[in-house]
Amino acid sequence: MSEKLRHLKQAGQGAFVDRHTTRAKSLLHPYEKGVKSKYGLVGLPLSKTSISHSGASFAPAAIREALQSYTVYSGEAKVDLEEKIVDFGDVYLSPTNLIENQHSLYEALVDVFQTDTAENYFLLGGDHSVSYSAMKAYKEVFGDIGVIQFDAHHDLRNTEDGGPTNGTPFRRLLTEGILPGENLVQVGIRDFTNAKAYDQYAEDQGVAVYTMADVRQDGIEQILSKEVERLAGKVQAIYISLDMDVLDQAFAPGCPAIGPGGMDTDTLFEGLSLLGGHDMVQAMDIVEIDPTIDFRNMTSRVAAYSLLQFMKAKGMR
Ligand code: CA
Repeated sequence: MSEKLRHLKQAGQGAFVDRHTTRAKSLLHPYEKGVKSKYGLVGLPLSKTSISHSGASFAPAAIREALQSYTVYSGEAKVDLEEKIVDFGDVYLSPTNLIENQHSLYEALVDVFQTDTAENYFLLGGDHSVSYSAMKAYKEVFGDIGVIQFDAHHDLRNTEDGGPTNGTPFRRLLTEGILPGENLVQVGIRDFTNAKAYDQYAEDQGVAVYTMADVRQDGIEQILSKEVERLAGKVQAIYISLDMDVLDQAFAPGCPAIGPGGMDTDTLFEGLSLLGGHDMVQAMDIVEIDPTIDFRNMTSRVAAYSLLQFMKAKGMR
């Protein structure tokens, strides 16, 4: 518009702008070679590998957009988040070749990590199968990892029944020796959601499993403090895998596998704050959000809020 009309502004601009408010989405900056930051972010939009119907491939965009719902200011900590998040974009994926896609995710993330851009990485899925590729790449570049997995499920299914789906990532990581069982901590495992055989498999492999009953009884802080200290002594970095279905269906309606008896958001944020405050915790994936079935973007908003809680904890230490 070369000559402005009175009372009109350009189409698509927000209805209201407050000069003192900075939205969290403005922390995202496209990747530029050589520019370093405390945080990097990559979208891993793969969900055709899901056992159940899933539009989780839309989640990376929905989570970025949900950052617009928040300001950068923590009133509790009295600080503005200022460190930018370098956004590497989304990994290109084929519509038809699912196994090749898992390899593409791995290759893409090796490339990203080798740029040595960020101290901490956020990896946005996608269904939970993306964690296999992400952790494989992370280990290759940064060394041995310990993993804190928030999940209603073990994700230790056999691969004979359906190939490398979103039910198998940790089984594959264990059997391929990428992640020893004793370096895996599963938190929030839920009743009537898993098979006995996989509970037994976890135990046989030395996986530390905490059910929702354990979380309610011992408290998230006690569990995570103990496990982070244990892992810190034996690995190069600690990686959080946040499957949103760890949350009760009341808090995460946009997960393909919803159910009652799950975690509440306060407990999750308390856990992420504790983990973010630890030097060795340097990566987090967020998976299993399907924006096409979500209600008012509630679940993507939880994801965006989780990123901010993690950053707040990093900023405060
Ligand atoms: Ca999972």
